[in-house]
Amino acid sequence: MNENEIRKEILFLKNITHIYNQDHQKIKVLDNINVRVVRGEMVALIGPSGTGKSTLLNIAGLLESPTFGSVSLAGQNCKNLNEDLKTSLRGSEVGFIFQSHRLFPEFSAIENVMIPQLIMGEPKLKAEKKSKELLSVLGLQKRLNFRPAKLSGGEAQRVAIARSLANSPNLVLADEPTGNLDPISAKNVFEILYKLVKSLNISCLIATHNYDLAKLMDRSIVLKNGSTNNN
Ligand code: ADP
Ligand code: MG
Repeated sequence: MNENEIRKEILFLKNITHIYNQDHQKIKVLDNINVRVVRGEMVALIGPSGTGKSTLLNIAGLLESPTFGSVSLAGQNCKNLNEDLKTSLRGSEVGFIFQSHRLFPEFSAIENVMIPQLIMGEPKLKAEKKSKELLSVLGLQKRLNFRPAKLSGGEAQRVAIARSLANSPNLVLADEPTGNLDPISAKNVFEILYKLVKSLNISCLIATHNYDLAKLMDRSIVLKNGSTNNN
């Protein structure tokens, strides 16, 4: 790889093996996986339930350390980072979207998008302005003060997308983000996420077991028996 390609590389999971210990049994969930994601790419991580998609996303987002192998995020090798440094790298580089929106129920849409920015030390007014802009791009300018319970599933998931982008991450990790939605809302949420990833020129890795959705992305990585099709 030349220097240009290294600079474009947002995520590199190298020789990742992950073993869970459960009931005195060792379960190898990921077996020597290599994944590279470059800037501007939307990549599907596809495979049936239980194949380790969520585990891989958690490792990519530094929520979990792999048993073996290394993670590079935005050019930084994370192997020897302590928890504080991992938290700060995660906060600035990664946005997460989950299957259920996981918004704070007692806060409004705009507050939910402000919270990650406030945690990163942004001033309140700046966080508010950015949240308004993001929610407007997502077509939610009339829902700013609604709490999650007053939003439809698709709207709540769009707020979750706005929240994932709140700290201008380079990488969005989405774990079955449309899995709980009806087909029309799912398509709508996917399309809006796709457009945003492309217009912001960031990267996105999306776990899904939906092959039709995967076909709409730039490329797919298929997880099967702990391995991928691209090792
Ligand atoms: P997927 O997201 O593709 O459904 P997961 O990554 O959630 O797959 O899980 C992969 C496998 O690892 C499953 O067999 C699951 O039971 C197991 N697993 C996941 N998390 C844990 C854990 N914290 N402890 C033990 N086993 C786990
Ligand atoms: Mg999962």
